[in-house]
Amino acid sequence: MEILASGCLATTFVWLQHRGGLREAATSTRPGIRERWHRPLATGQRRAGIALGALRPGSASVRARRVDGGYVLDGESPWVTGWDMIDTLCAAARDERDTVVWALLDAEAGRGLSVEPLDLVAVRASRTVLVRFDGYRVADERVTGAHPYAEWAERDAAGLRLNGFLALGVAARCVALLGATPLAVALDECRSALVSGTPDVAQARAAAAALAVRAAAALAVTQGAGAVLRGSHAERLSREALFLLVFGSRPAIRSALSRRLLY
Ligand SMILES: Cc1cc2nc3c(=O)[nH]c(=O)nc-3n(C[C@H](O)[C@H](O)[C@H](O)COP(=O)(O)OP(=O)(O)OC[C@H]3O[C@@H](n4cnc5c(N)ncnc54)[C@H](O)[C@@H]3O)c2cc1C
Repeated sequence: MEILASGCLATTFVWLQHRGGLREAATSTRPGIRERWHRPLATGQRRAGIALGALRPGSASVRARRVDGGYVLDGESPWVTGWDMIDTLCAAARDERDTVVWALLDAEAGRGLSVEPLDLVAVRASRTVLVRFDGYRVADERVTGAHPYAEWAERDAAGLRLNGFLALGVAARCVALLGATPLAVALDECRSALVSGTPDVAQARAAAAALAVRAAAALAVTQGAGAVLRGSHAERLSREALFLLVFGSRPAIRSALSRRLLY
C-alpha cells in the first residue's frame, strides 16, 4: 500500500475503496451474495466504491426504511470516491431501530440516486462525489448484511490501520526525492509503529499523517521557489499531505494529530 501510494496516491486511494466492496462480498453470509459478487469484484471485472456516511456518529445521514421485498434509502453520503470509474457501490444505511443495513448497489445516477462532484484540492482524479438517495429502492437480493450500529465501532477499528499507509507513501516519495536525511529514519519508525499498532493505531495514524506534512514541507524548502509552481513534486505532495490530515479520520486520530501539531 505504501509503495503504491508513493507512486500514485489517487490510484491507490480509488483501489482502496474497492477493497471495501470486495470484503463485503467475500464475507457476506446472505444467500447468493458471495456467488454473484465475489468473483467479479475479486478479478476487477466489477469495481466498487463505498458509501459509509451513514455510519458517522449521531443521527444517520442515510436512512433505510423496510418495504415489501427490500428497503428504501433516503439521505446523503457526503464522500464517495471513484464515481464514473466504479460500477458497484457498497452502501451503508441505518433503519429506525439503528440497525446498519449493507447493500451492493449499481453505481449509476437516476432512479432515486444523484451525485454532486466535489472540487478537491488533491487526488482530484479520484472523482469523489457526494451521493444523495431520494426514495432509492434496494431489493433484498442486494442486501449483504445487517448488524446493530453499536457494533460498528469495533468493526471499523479493524480497518483503520490500512489508511495510514497512504500517508507513509506520500512521506516515502518525499524521502526518495530528498535523498539521505534523518526523515528516512523517521519513516522507518512510523512504518514500524503502524505495522505493530503501537502505542495504538490512532497514535500511529497521527504520526504517519504528521510525517507526510513534515516531509512535504521539507521537500518544498529544499526545492525553493520552484515548489510553488503548479506541477512541481513539492506542491502536489503538499496538497496530498493536507488531504491525508483529514481523510479517514476518527475522533481519536484527530485528537492525537491535533496534539502533535498544536503542542
Ligand atoms: C477526499 C475524500 C474522499 C473520501 N472518500 C470516501 C469514500 O469513498 N467513502 C466513504 O465512505 N468515505 C469517504 N471519505 C470520508 C472519510 O472516510 C472520513 O469519514 C472523513 O475523512 C472524516 O471526516 P471528518 O473528520 O471531517 O469527520 P465528519 O465527516 O465530520 O464526521 C464526524 C465524526 O464522525 C467520525 N466518522 C466519520 N466517518 C465515520 C465512519 N464511517 N465511521 C465512524 N465514525 C466516522 C469522524 O471521526 C468525526 O469525529 C472521504 C473523505 C475525503 C476527504
